[in-house]
Amino acid sequence: MSTFSGLLQEANLIGGTWVGADSGKTLAVSNPATGEVLGQVPNCGQSETQRAIDAASAAFAEFGRTALSYRVGLLHKLHDALMDNQEALAHLLTAEQGKPLFEARGEIAIGAAYVRWYAEEIRRAKGEIVPAASNDRRLLVTHHPVGVVGAITPWNFPSSMLARKLAPALAAGCTVVAKPASATPYSGLAWGKLCQEVGYPAGVVNILTGSAREIGGAIMDSAEVRKVTFTGSTEVGKTLIRQSADTVKKVSMELGGNAPFIVFDDADLDAAVEGAMVAKYRNMGQTCVCTNRFYVQAGIYDAFVERFSQATAALVVGNGAEDGVQQGPLIDMGAVEKVEALIADALAKGGQVQQGGKRHGNGGTFFEPTIITDANASMRFATEEIFGPLAAIFKFESEDEVIAAANATRFGLAAYAYTRDLARSFHLNERLDYGLIGINSGLIATVEAPFGGVKESGMGKEGGSQGLDDYLVSKYTCLAGLGA
Ligand code: ADP
Repeated sequence: MSTFSGLLQEANLIGGTWVGADSGKTLAVSNPATGEVLGQVPNCGQSETQRAIDAASAAFAEFGRTALSYRVGLLHKLHDALMDNQEALAHLLTAEQGKPLFEARGEIAIGAAYVRWYAEEIRRAKGEIVPAASNDRRLLVTHHPVGVVGAITPWNFPSSMLARKLAPALAAGCTVVAKPASATPYSGLAWGKLCQEVGYPAGVVNILTGSAREIGGAIMDSAEVRKVTFTGSTEVGKTLIRQSADTVKKVSMELGGNAPFIVFDDADLDAAVEGAMVAKYRNMGQTCVCTNRFYVQAGIYDAFVERFSQATAALVVGNGAEDGVQQGPLIDMGAVEKVEALIADALAKGGQVQQGGKRHGNGGTFFEPTIITDANASMRFATEEIFGPLAAIFKFESEDEVIAAANATRFGLAAYAYTRDLARSFHLNERLDYGLIGINSGLIATVEAPFGGVKESGMGKEGGSQGLDDYLVSKYTCLAGLGA
């Protein structure tokens, strides 16, 4: 436990107090690499959530009106607290989630960077004075915090997904009721501990663990919660959008993806392979921006497959807490079974295993990084999100053909392309129906730019100046009768 420096919290933060579930019930949290139980967290439900909402609502009355300099100061302290505890937080993240330590350290640093970004960006949340049609009026547009925010986060980035929501919310002056995923609650609870330590008043940040349906239901039903921000599956996102109707909440949704990664004949092969590795295997393929479909042009297909296979075969699979490991376990057995089912489906439809293809010798939920070639549009992974270390490679001939194939999905989160043709890069920007496009890079998310999908990948943005908009409401005030 000492590795975690006291950041492993087994209680929930409601109204400034650390508490258990009313029922006393708990949920066990285990390390996916070892199966070891790390500890228990409260199994909270509707009544605890309502108390958290009440606390957030009471706290908003004051926090929503605090001085900008006060909120900016707290955010800088929070940033520093995160970085001071980076190592302990990274170990905690790897222990509950499985990703290699170097990725976990990066995730903590990115989360801290969001906090600093919004400390800076809130200072520029300018309003407007709009020219009025007549001389006796002045038209003001001003921005205000939306109110109590419900934040529901997934297990794949248990720390940075909360950062993307907490940072702009706290910058804007909102108060928050957050629910981390049950598989990975400790990273979220640690945010609560650090927020408390740096001086956020009671009720500003509340963190609950337990039943998704009950906690989510209470958040969605509450008229006091004015905005919900969710990262997770498209299926759950759609449910939340439906549930938001009754109270007309603002919603932002970061949902599933089905990212294409296009390698044109004129690509820099070394760069394309390097980008492919990170865009496919980061977090063992368990990110919403991970490549789902590789499209490789006929002239470079064989060379790309060979080089990508060599790099894939060299990946070191093991417990993410050990030095040198590049691929940890998958989150649970369901994830393993899904990858297996997708491979079986592809093989039945003409796919070839180029690399890997089965559970890893480490046992548990470890899976061999896998490449399937001769992929075609009838295979399930052409339309379904893989969320695992399985690379499917399709061959294509022309730019028009590949753009049509890339867009033939109901998702629209991230797309990647490798080409040295500048004109083509602009065509891709215009023609790919995606919210994020990486030209000659497989890793493009950054605090300075808006992250978010189109189509069924979601709505709203996280990061960039746009990421604040979701936590603000604008008011138009007309000052009339000012004379000519
Ligand atoms: P994934 O498991 O792929 O991350 P989910 O959409 O299942 O995606 O889960 C994301 C988050 O949403 C988790 O915190 C989960 O507990 C929560 N969740 C799941 N179902 C519901 C629901 N019906 N209402 C509210 N939250 C939910």
